[in-house]
Amino acid sequence: MSYVFAAPATVSVPILGQPEQFPVHRIYCVGRNYEEHAKEMGYTGREPPFFFLKPADALVVVHDGATGHIPYPSLTANFHHEIELVVAIGKGGRNIKAADAMGHVFGYAVGLDMTRRDLQNDMKKQGRPWCIGKAFDHSAPIGPIVRAEKVSGIEAAAISVTVNGQPRQASHVSKLIWNIAETIEHLSAAWELQPGDLIYSGTPEGVAAVKSGDTMVGQVAGLPTLTVQVD
Ligand code: MN
Repeated sequence: MSYVFAAPATVSVPILGQPEQFPVHRIYCVGRNYEEHAKEMGYTGREPPFFFLKPADALVVVHDGATGHIPYPSLTANFHHEIELVVAIGKGGRNIKAADAMGHVFGYAVGLDMTRRDLQNDMKKQGRPWCIGKAFDHSAPIGPIVRAEKVSGIEAAAISVTVNGQPRQASHVSKLIWNIAETIEHLSAAWELQPGDLIYSGTPEGVAAVKSGDTMVGQVAGLPTLTVQVD
């Protein structure tokens, strides 16, 4: 095979404790999957889960113990953090039932679904796609993936992010409206999941803006801390 220009490199995420990388296929994101966040965004109740995507090359991979850097993005004056548990899929499938879903999970990571909130809100008002608010370059910082068998209690883990040491978001994964297995069931009814897919599972309440120079420290209990500075 020859190409007219160099093909883009495969995007991959390190796996804690092993040399092989996790090659990324797609990034799926779940919208409004914690009740208190749904409320702060002006919604209530257990609506069916809905999804959007980010391109794989929006990932900013942050190695264990390192500080990642993202540029303050263009076109926004309201750049928000959303701390999320990321589920890495190791075995694909269509119409996966919740009862079988955990067998498709390779592992977990801490991620930030960075959002140009002002642009997202404009798009919502106009009934337009969210891409410009969600799927921009450098919008998906992620830490190393920990294999599922090395993680216990993820379904109830504490999840939080601080900015410059101040608490911003703090909740528990047990407060997901649609838990990991149910999310996989819904997602795989709409798309055929593939090994290498990542699922940003949603963010709890407390989303807020960051500015240049701010440092975010994201944590999900049992996973490596994700530290990211906005340049
Ligand atoms: Mn999100």
